[in-house]
Amino acid sequence: MIKLTNTLTSKKESFEPINGKKVNMFVCGPTVYDYIHIGNARTFVFFDVVAKYLRHRGYDVNYIQNITDIDNKIIDRAQKEGVDPLEYAKKYSDIFKEDMKTLGVTSPEYKNATDHIPEVIKQVQTLLDKNNAYIIEGDGIYFDLSTFPDYGKLSGRTAGMADDAVSRIDDSDKKRNRGDFAIWKFSQEGDPSWNFETGKYLGINNSRPAFAKATAGRPGWHIEDTAITEKYFGPQYDLHGGGQDLIFPHHEAEIAQQESASGLAPFVKYWLHVAFLINKDEKMSKSKGNFKTVHELLEKYPKEVLRFYLLSGHYRSPLEFSDKTLRQSEAGVSRIYEFVQKLNLTGENGADNAEKQIEKGRQTFLEAMDDNFNFPKALAAIFDLIRDTNNALVNNSLNKTSIEKMRDFLKETDSVLGIIPTKKEKIPDEILELVEKRENYRKSQKWEEADKIRAQIEEMGYKVEDTIYGPLMERT
Ligand code: AMP
Repeated sequence: MIKLTNTLTSKKESFEPINGKKVNMFVCGPTVYDYIHIGNARTFVFFDVVAKYLRHRGYDVNYIQNITDIDNKIIDRAQKEGVDPLEYAKKYSDIFKEDMKTLGVTSPEYKNATDHIPEVIKQVQTLLDKNNAYIIEGDGIYFDLSTFPDYGKLSGRTAGMADDAVSRIDDSDKKRNRGDFAIWKFSQEGDPSWNFETGKYLGINNSRPAFAKATAGRPGWHIEDTAITEKYFGPQYDLHGGGQDLIFPHHEAEIAQQESASGLAPFVKYWLHVAFLINKDEKMSKSKGNFKTVHELLEKYPKEVLRFYLLSGHYRSPLEFSDKTLRQSEAGVSRIYEFVQKLNLTGENGADNAEKQIEKGRQTFLEAMDDNFNFPKALAAIFDLIRDTNNALVNNSLNKTSIEKMRDFLKETDSVLGIIPTKKEKIPDEILELVEKRENYRKSQKWEEADKIRAQIEEMGYKVEDTIYGPLMERT
């Protein structure tokens, strides 16, 4: 049975989806005004593994992630560059999807906010009709928090008490309550805008008559998510995730919108939040300037190393970013890869039976994953098994079924984690020549010469390990 810590109850609970083995799952995606950073990727890789693991455990997972392609930040940046905000967002949305693909994040289906304007309008209209929302002329349509007494049930905070309840763009002295938030922003000059009655895109507001209609505008900060999930999942679903910064007010606002619109609670059964990736004790973020983009890191590190790094800590604990942690991850991936290489090259006629040991390692891996996605423990199960079977492997003494079982186990873990490189980088010809020369010396027992060449190889940044089936090369 899978257990997870539900932010809504602050308890570790057994995972029991609303509808048997069917799981509807939603995670807040990026606002596409720039490259995403490795902190964002922590959240996206975590939920990629959650979806893959649930599928592996037999659940039928419908995993949707939204792309916020209309927002103040996008409009501001696009205006500065003198380009169309929607085209600007499309550029960064394409880059985001490409980066995710390179990072092996393959489980979500992406949905753009701007492709769901009619659904947004429908929900806004429902909230207006039910008196959960009100209009501020010349500004927008606001959610009235006094109509939703449950506000704060996810975070344990209330609209009145927190400063960040009032987001900058939703500031207005005409609001009924301090924390009321905009669900529809009326069109300002330069804004991409939609007709509120028809949902039709009007283009950029250039003060032509089409924009004169007071209700033309664009979605507020929180409404796109509930409009999208209501369309694909209905008013209630199983699992909602995001980084911990979204608990308040973003996810509280989603609850207020959807539970008010449908009259059904809870809107989401399980809420999962990922702790921050931090850089020198501070949350990595665009505004602090202490970030590294996924794009630049992917140029330096293979995707497996970045995934290993992102999965190396428990998702509810902060994860430190540093060269050291990335180097440790590189070493971890190399260790697994070396083992896989040996496994691929070994003979299959040994006598040692390690089947029980491998099955025990497999069970430890699954138990760790079942227990609130405990990646550090799951990775430790893999490394323990590698350590315990490595000697038998190097000595070519494992029997055929053990080797097959080990291969299956690593394949199984990797289908979920994505941390084992499938293709190794090419070893340069000059290194291969030196290795061959060294082999010849070794065959004629000229150990001193062989050692000199090994030192030469190491100086060139490679190491060579002698195994029963020949030398294995690896970059140091
Ligand atoms: P944003 O584009 O800022 O809305 O962020 C997209 C996703 O990344 C959200 O789920 C955020 O909670 C998450 N996120 C942002 N910064 C970090 C960080 N430093 N560590 C982990 N997750 C983050």
